[in-house]
Amino acid sequence: MSVLDIVTGQLPASKSHAARRWAFVPTSEPTKPGLGTLTIVQGKRDLDSYGIDVEAGEVLFCKLDAAADVYGVACDRAGRPVKCTCDGFHFKRTCKHCDAAKELIREGLIAAR
Ligand SMILES: [Zn+2]
Repeated sequence: MSVLDIVTGQLPASKSHAARRWAFVPTSEPTKPGLGTLTIVQGKRDLDSYGIDVEAGEVLFCKLDAAADVYGVACDRAGRPVKCTCDGFHFKRTCKHCDAAKELIREGLIAAR
């Protein structure tokens, strides 16, 4: 893997954060193309990294910390993210995982179908 493999982008502003960025590092494992590590930065302090996997139409965000929470973003038949299992989505009907999954799909980094 080289630094050239890193793909970065921005997420639309949310109610709590005007500046939201992401960076995706594809895995170098040839048997798992398209998957990798995603870091989402919101504002100056809110930084989370996830291992990204796709399974049965769901984009899985496996948080890379001690708790190792896993959030699943379900996609519709067209491969568009429609809902997430995290608490944020439950209350706000939107979340950074859905927004990030949209970006990764739009950039062609993952395919949810
Ligand atoms: Zn979520």
